[in-house]
Amino acid sequence: MKPFLSLSFGQRYQTLPPACYQRVSPTPLSEPYPVVINEALCAQLGLEPASLLQPAAVAVLAGCRLTEGMQPLAALYSGHQFGVYVPQLGDGRALLLGDTQAEDGTVWEWQLKGAGPTPFSRSGDGRAVLRSSIREYLCSEAMHGLGIPTTRALAIMGSDEAIYRETVETAAVVTRLAESFIRFGSFEVFYHRGQHDLLRELADYVIRQHYPLCAESAQPYQALFTEICRRTALLMADWQAVGFCHGVMNTDNMSILGLTLDYGPFGFLDGFDAGHICNHSDHRGRYAYQQQAQIALWNLHCLASAFLPLVAEDVLLAALQEYRHHFEQAYLQRMRAKLGLQQAEAEDGELISALLLLLHAQHTDFTLFFRRLADFPLVAGGVEAVRDLVIDRDLFDQWALHYRQRLQLENSVDGERRIRMQQVNPKYILRNHLAETAIRQAVEHSDYSEINRLQRCLQQPFAEQPEFEAYAGLPPDWASSLSVSCSS
Ligand code: AMP
Ligand code: MG
Repeated sequence: MKPFLSLSFGQRYQTLPPACYQRVSPTPLSEPYPVVINEALCAQLGLEPASLLQPAAVAVLAGCRLTEGMQPLAALYSGHQFGVYVPQLGDGRALLLGDTQAEDGTVWEWQLKGAGPTPFSRSGDGRAVLRSSIREYLCSEAMHGLGIPTTRALAIMGSDEAIYRETVETAAVVTRLAESFIRFGSFEVFYHRGQHDLLRELADYVIRQHYPLCAESAQPYQALFTEICRRTALLMADWQAVGFCHGVMNTDNMSILGLTLDYGPFGFLDGFDAGHICNHSDHRGRYAYQQQAQIALWNLHCLASAFLPLVAEDVLLAALQEYRHHFEQAYLQRMRAKLGLQQAEAEDGELISALLLLLHAQHTDFTLFFRRLADFPLVAGGVEAVRDLVIDRDLFDQWALHYRQRLQLENSVDGERRIRMQQVNPKYILRNHLAETAIRQAVEHSDYSEINRLQRCLQQPFAEQPEFEAYAGLPPDWASSLSVSCSS
């Protein structure tokens, strides 16, 4: 285990043409203090967690000073926001510090989010509020716990510095890490500016650093685009299967590596609602839960346009077609697993659709339903725990009849199926009210212990953790009045 300050940062992003970024110094957070340190991620990186609490380390993670090799920069990108092309976005409040290599050989890029304005900040202040920083921290770690590709969060540094949103809040800086933060919009910007040489250099860089297998293909750019489509499809299947809504699926928030990226007004479904809109500002429901797979495809079309100088149009269209196939296959596979099914039968799609219609009509809690369904017995009876979640018991019984027949068809064994189902149906998800409770304690009482507790629970979302039973229940009544907007 190394101390944080002994890390030496590399600058592989700067092997890209200078047009891809702007060097910027962070704006120090005034009188920073640690809010939370991610011990699990420290372990993965081979870092001593306590070393991040040293004043000099806190200063670095609050944008007050740099360490060996750090050369902060803001990356350029553009993107389609709510369907409209915005020619220039870029890191408005995130700075890439550089990269480090962990003992297992993985390379991590480090960003400070909320470390002050950049040339891409437009009218923004370059800051992030503590509230949204806690949400990003908790959710990226919750997603990681669920086994869903995501950027990670290593630490939050807080400050009493005032930040003006709808109300006055305080500032924080999140240290977030990923293999790369490159977005669909990173490609779009050079296509729309007609800078095709830069586009090609970016594609070459992405292949070299992140998709080395594509370099071995006879058509590397085609292989790259196809692989991005595939990873995006798998990510969408992951999101749908745990009831995660991203909230702002603009192309500048779509990772080129298929990671969950840029946590803003996200939300997990409580009661199942296919049309759930988690972003208060998304009036038309463009990014509603049931739209996500389709929107990802729309976003991939934007990326495909940007790839036109590199790959023939018909080839790009074929890859987009494959996206549908990958998504449907992956989604079906995850839903079968959620139901504990091991074989594939032609009618499984119908069984799943019927269940989702039922859950939607009854507004049944998505997470609890699947978790309790693990105890559904092959022979009659013993279904009260899950049945009680559905208001109209007759509707449940009708569906359960088909489900039971389907289980019998493959001679499913109760005990084995329960274990399988508990491994894919989380007991604990980051419900809005759980995040809100941690945020209120932090913001109102400077008590950060709930962030740690919740994170510990969400690291093992599939395990029974009796000490965290309270986190596994239905949301309290006050949760329905929570709303989340883009303001962060
Ligand atoms: P988002 O929709 O949160 O992904 O943000 C879209 C763009 O706005 C990105 O380029 C962000 O960097 C930028 N942005 C968001 N909030 C701020 C802020 N407070 N200050 C500067 N830029 C921001
Ligand atoms: Mg963003």
